[in-house]
Amino acid sequence: MSDLFKNEPALLKVALLGNPVLRKKVENVTREELKDPRTAYFIDSMIDTMREYNGAGLASPQVHVSKKIIIIEAQDNPRYPKRGEIPLTVLVNPEIVSFSQEVEEGWEGCLSVAGLWGRVKRSTAITVNAMTREGKDVEIKAEGFFAVVLQHEIDHLYGKLFVDRMEDMSTLCFTQEYNRYWSD
Ligand code: ZN
Repeated sequence: MSDLFKNEPALLKVALLGNPVLRKKVENVTREELKDPRTAYFIDSMIDTMREYNGAGLASPQVHVSKKIIIIEAQDNPRYPKRGEIPLTVLVNPEIVSFSQEVEEGWEGCLSVAGLWGRVKRSTAITVNAMTREGKDVEIKAEGFFAVVLQHEIDHLYGKLFVDRMEDMSTLCFTQEYNRYWSD
């Protein structure tokens, strides 16, 4: 292969609602797998894909890989204006170890549920244990928008989508109507 393609991340295809990969059991990433340069390449490709589609996060099952990797980032995101900034965060095998009792309802969308928005209740603060992409163990205490996106992305690792969490399906709406009537 020519050097032209060396180390260039690729855009990945996002699986849409109904694709069985979104509901499949997801395995932990082993430390061996994490050291594999192909894993680093895959993570870089996830980052490019999330940015290309203006996602605030992306979970590996959404791009057809049933391994526990999530990425999150929000900076001037047109899909989520006024929600606050989240620096690029890559988490491997994330696990929520505590949820706040306090919950708040907010609007969520998903690259795998393209064009639809709905209201979901989430804990306002959570603690997550995970590994970084370098294999370092970390504990993350998150609140606000960061906590919401973490819960959304970690749900993907258990085959759950935001529509499964909606208590009132009457809030489901298309992007155009969401922007016109509801967008905060
Ligand atoms: Zn999603």
